[in-house]
Amino acid sequence: MTPQNTLNADYLIIGSGAVGMAFADTLFHETDATMVIVDRHHGPGGHWNDAYPFVRLHQPSAY
Ligand SMILES: Cc1cc2nc3c(=O)[nH]c(=O)nc-3n(C[C@H](O)[C@H](O)[C@H](O)COP(=O)(O)OP(=O)(O)OC[C@H]3O[C@@H](n4cnc5c(N)ncnc54)[C@H](O)[C@@H]3O)c2cc1C
Repeated sequence: MTPQNTLNADYLIIGSGAVGMAFADTLFHETDATMVIVDRHHGPGGHWNDAYPFVRLHQPSAY
């Protein structure tokens, strides 16, 4: 039996900066792979969250 706090995915992406999101976008559009993205930040955007906290792109999707 799988514990409830276990996530299963084909890819584990560390970092939701530009590179992580571009990789996830390609996977999403070109494969049927599942993925989990982990970041030490509370939301996507990478170092821009720190360098430009006043900049907000489109509302980040929770999905
Ligand atoms: C000051 C500055 C200004 C810039 N201005 C521009 C610009 O105007 N136009 C432009 O095109 N480019 C600009 N760049 C470059 C561009 O922003 C970067 O090349 C790009 O953001 C790099 O993306 P990245 O995903 O590699 O890294 P990052 O954006 O740094 O994302 C990496 C993510 O990984 C996470 N992470 C790392 N290690 C771990 C870990 N062990 N566990 C969990 N999470 C982790 C971090 O929290 C971060 O969110 C600028 C860069 C800097 C530093």
